[in-house]
Amino acid sequence: MTEKLSAPRGTRDLYGEEMARFEAIETLARAAFSSMGYQQIRTPIFESRSLFERSVGDETDIVKKELYVFRDRKDRELALRPEGTAGVVRAYIERNMGAAGGVTKLWYSGPMFRYERPQGGRYRQFYQLGCELFGAKSAMADVEVAGLAIKILATLKINARLKINFIGCEACRRAYAESIRAFFAAKKEKLCPDCIVRLERNPLRVLDCKVETCRAERAGAPAIALCETCSAQYAEIRQGLSEMKIEYVEDASMVRGLDYYTGFVFEAVSENLGAQDAVLGGGRYDGLVAQMGGPPTPAVGFAIGMDRLASLVAADIRVVGPFLLVIGLGAQNQWGAMDLARRLRAASVVGGTGSVECALSEKSLKAQLKDADRRGFPFVAILGDGERERGVVTIRDMKSGEQKEIATGVADDELAAGVRRSLLA
Ligand code: AMP
Repeated sequence: MTEKLSAPRGTRDLYGEEMARFEAIETLARAAFSSMGYQQIRTPIFESRSLFERSVGDETDIVKKELYVFRDRKDRELALRPEGTAGVVRAYIERNMGAAGGVTKLWYSGPMFRYERPQGGRYRQFYQLGCELFGAKSAMADVEVAGLAIKILATLKINARLKINFIGCEACRRAYAESIRAFFAAKKEKLCPDCIVRLERNPLRVLDCKVETCRAERAGAPAIALCETCSAQYAEIRQGLSEMKIEYVEDASMVRGLDYYTGFVFEAVSENLGAQDAVLGGGRYDGLVAQMGGPPTPAVGFAIGMDRLASLVAADIRVVGPFLLVIGLGAQNQWGAMDLARRLRAASVVGGTGSVECALSEKSLKAQLKDADRRGFPFVAILGDGERERGVVTIRDMKSGEQKEIATGVADDELAAGVRRSLLA
């Protein structure tokens, strides 16, 4: 017996309804990014392994436990990207994008890979869309980026709460690392082996360990104490958020699971999701570009988890759906039907929001209407012998069953206008 085929654990095929939701999300997000001057970038889905170790951080779960690593035929050590920022920062530096000065705004969308334990809303291949804003240091940039994230959720009619925190400058974080070390010192042996090492090397990472006992032990951990400059910056961001009417809640325990963040960080969580309730995460990372060998460059960005978002959007969010099916009756009307569909598309009969398709079938009218119904077409156009002889096509409203004839021997625009009028009638 041959082995049954299946997609690798933690991956899935996107098609049908879920794919339509992904498409809708991407279309609406693309419009939001473009309206704010962001340009799309596509970076490779694999990069050198060291890129992720140096940016995401070698003590993070993402790099330590979840990276998909492989060697190519020339023995180069590569990794599938676990997130989007590292590749975009690499591209920004490599292409010298900051040379002209000013801000650089980029957005991306694509698959990410993490070797995590799959569960509802958590996959090994998942999809993120996100953006990075380089070259702006002010609180306005933080507010603009968080506002853009929230705007995308609002456009999709998603109810989510914005959680914010400020993880301070290097001096604040160094002092915070010490207070975290002191907090866990007495209960070190209750932490997982990784966290015992983290406590020495990178104590903040203990705060986002996924191991249950570590989660329990961090209850009551101290919040970060910010220096005067950081406090003032955080206050300005909060005021800016209020100014822009962006609601938020503060969460002093949120540190985010990546090493590169400095200062403002945020997440959006939805009550309509289960344990995996975060739909997006982001923040400022002013040190990363320089740390990776580029010029010192302030930066802020976010990533939205499309898989979780897709499970939240309403089923009717899809932007392109079946609209008009052109049916030719009998072999002698097939090419006529195909030509009619072509003419209607050329004259943009539905302006890009629905499909105009030729049925590509010689079945009986009854069978074809049944197919049209099953595939969700609200309208069909029927071309039979009678119609052809009279120089018309019959437009049928699938819901009411009402039918109207439209003349076909006219210019394409006029034909499309006639069809549109018949749909409105
Ligand atoms: P992060 O890069 O960890 O901040 O993640 C940003 C967003 O990506 C999260 O808020 C999730 O919505 C999504 N995400 C992260 N990991 C996964 C995963 N394994 N499966 C599905 N979505 C994920």
